[in-house]
Amino acid sequence: MQGYIVNINRVRDEDLIVTVLSKNTLHTTYRFYGARHGTINLGFKIDFELQTSPQSSIARLKDVMHIGFPWIYSHAKLRVWQQFNALLYKHLKQTQELDSFYFDLLDYAAKTIDKQNSKRVMVEIYTRLLKLEGRLHTENICFLCNDKIEGDIAYLRAFLPTHPSCSHRLHVRSEAMNELMLNNSSFFLSNKEIDILWFVINEGL
Ligand SMILES: [Zn+2]
Repeated sequence: MQGYIVNINRVRDEDLIVTVLSKNTLHTTYRFYGARHGTINLGFKIDFELQTSPQSSIARLKDVMHIGFPWIYSHAKLRVWQQFNALLYKHLKQTQELDSFYFDLLDYAAKTIDKQNSKRVMVEIYTRLLKLEGRLHTENICFLCNDKIEGDIAYLRAFLPTHPSCSHRLHVRSEAMNELMLNNSSFFLSNKEIDILWFVINEGL
């Protein structure tokens, strides 16, 4: 089975509780410390097996093989990637059964990040996530005052649109944002605007 490590918690001395997002499940697993084990890290894609036993309510993570990405040694890309994986864990941690689009989104992002600005990739996949979850607000109505937004848009958490004068936040151009929301393309957003949107994403999915 393959999955992404979205959370790691150290327990006792060196043992770990590892949460792995596979195609349809968020697995909470136990990993015993052992010298033979390779290192695992947040955001890594792994091939793995689960071993269940009647004595334990939590499956044991075994036969772990790291499936590397070509960009894994880029600190900047890895940091953004790990941050998004951690945010996704917080967003999904109450669930166990998942729609496969979360796994597919990570797969897509892991491939695309190689050639693109990593924050730009995350802004695009987060917009897709909101759309797939039915939470994407494409009608530019201000969340705070309920009036139509004609010009630039400032976003609250989960890309809730507001007038910059209502939320007093940094804003992006609405035409560039419409292109992202309707066609999933961040092409017209500047790197500065991508930074603004990445900041919003970091407030929580
Ligand atoms: Zn407003």
